[in-house]
Amino acid sequence: MTQPETTVELHARICLNCCLVTVAEDGNWRHSAEALLNFADDACDEPLPGRKARPRDVWFGRAPLVKNDPYMDDTDSVEVTGWQQGDQPVLVGTDCSYRQRRDADRQPYGGPICWGYVATNGAYGFGATFMPRRIGGDPVSNGEMRAVFWAVRRLVPRHRVVLLTDSQDTVELIEEWRTGSTRMPRGYTVQRASERPAKLELLRRNVVKHFELITVRWVRGHTGHPLNEGADALAKFAGLWATKRVSKEAAKADARRTAAAVLQRFPG
Ligand SMILES: [Zn+2]
Repeated sequence: MTQPETTVELHARICLNCCLVTVAEDGNWRHSAEALLNFADDACDEPLPGRKARPRDVWFGRAPLVKNDPYMDDTDSVEVTGWQQGDQPVLVGTDCSYRQRRDADRQPYGGPICWGYVATNGAYGFGATFMPRRIGGDPVSNGEMRAVFWAVRRLVPRHRVVLLTDSQDTVELIEEWRTGSTRMPRGYTVQRASERPAKLELLRRNVVKHFELITVRWVRGHTGHPLNEGADALAKFAGLWATKRVSKEAAKADARRTAAAVLQRFPG
């Protein structure tokens, strides 16, 4: 007699290696049929059962890999006159803004880590998060990399991108990843209580997987590159929103106006 489907689902787990749903079969763990149907490319070689799969995970085939930042909006675009997708890469300015609070030891620790990006195809995004202290690392490095994380997640692999950052560390780290290093910013840990992969680990895998689509270039901060300045302004709007000095609606309107102004001055 075959077991009813629900019994299998009750025992489904999330693979610690690849986040796909895994099920036990004859004493061995394998990725579920749904997982292989939807995410064959992401399946690891040796399924390793972690936490129990939720019904939604089972149906989808994979646990959600990425949790949104508590303050973020990165679904909007502005129209860019003259932009054509042809062969040209999308240039993306990314930046971070961080200012430590005076009572930085109280929860949430530090201050919001704020990020922004503006891309020549009209896509832009901004957001902020308070990082749990246990994640570790320098808030500014984390923030610079987080801006890149969200920009790459939005644009790659649909587009070839040239990332423009004013952070030397970011350029160096991504270049290292491209040659096989797995180094993270100093102090940044990759173990998460949620068992989700760390965002920068996901970014690293993306850089390796799509190395031909991603270029990173240093630009001087504060003096000049319009896309970098735009990203900086967006990150600051996120900071005002996260510290409740402006409303979500005001921050979104400011971000949109700024992205449009920047892209008018610097069309693709
Ligand atoms: Zn796996």
